[in-house]
This record gives sequence, C-alpha cells and structure tokens, in this order.
Amino acid sequence: MPDESDVTVTADPNCLFCRIIAGSIPSTQVYRDDEVIAFCDRNPQAPTHVLVIPRRHVAGINAPEAADGPMLAAMVRAANAVARAEGIAESGFRLVWNVGHDAGQSVFHLHLHLLGGRPLGWPPG
Ligand code: AMP
Ligand code: ZN
Repeated sequence: MPDESDVTVTADPNCLFCRIIAGSIPSTQVYRDDEVIAFCDRNPQAPTHVLVIPRRHVAGINAPEAADGPMLAAMVRAANAVARAEGIAESGFRLVWNVGHDAGQSVFHLHLHLLGGRPLGWPPG
C-alpha cells in the first residue's frame, strides 16, 4: 500500500467519507491505492464487510460518466484484492451498490460494499 503521503484528495468538507479519506475521521483501512481506499464498515452485516470508495468525491453510482470507467474498474479491482486478502475469494462474496431511499443508501459518497464470510441469502432483504 502507498503511504499517506501519496494521497490525492478531491474533498467535500461536509462529506463523511471524504473526511475518512483525509484521516480526520478514523477508520480501519484494509487497502489503498492511488484511486481508492477500502475500510471496514462500522456496522458490519457479515464477517467481512468492507467499503471501497474512490478518493475523488462522487455522490453515487446512478449517474456514471464515460470518464468514470477507470475509477469504477479500480473499485472492482480493489474489492477483488480485498476479497483475496480476507480469504473469501474462493468461498464467495457479494458486491453491492445501494442507490437511493428504497435501497437504504445513507452516505452520498460512492461506495461499494464487499460482504462475505458467511452464506448470504437471496433475494436480499
Ligand atoms: P449505504 O447504506 O449503502 O449508504 O452504506 C453506508 C455504510 O457506511 C453503512 O453500511 C454504514 O454502516 C457505513 N458507515 C457509516 N459511517 C461509517 C464510519 N464512520 N466508518 C465506517 N463505516 C461507516
Ligand atoms: Zn465525499
């Protein structure tokens, strides 16, 4: 992982996850690279519950631009790297993007949930 000195941030000072990226709110980081960081969800819904977020503030997955392609690919790559590191790549895992009220989106800085470490029911609740 690069050290904190490598961090480039486009921050919204009112955004919880921008503040986590900046280090002003603590988190348990499990992965970081030039485009994304990943940290443990503070209210885990499975033995592994990690959030992958872009360093750049993007509100959600509901209005992707063509230019966002590399960032979205970096998020998925990071999620797979964390799944391997957490030992759940073989047993299986789920990647979730919540969008809007009915999906329970509560933080409006793009984040990809990585869930695993137990059988995950389908359909989801
Ligand atoms: P969503 O409901 O998809 O918007 O997901 C937001 C997630 O952020 C929830 O699963 C929360 O538990 C998690 N969360 C909120 N604040 C923090 C925090 N300070 N550190 C880690 N996870 C957080
Ligand atoms: Zn943000």
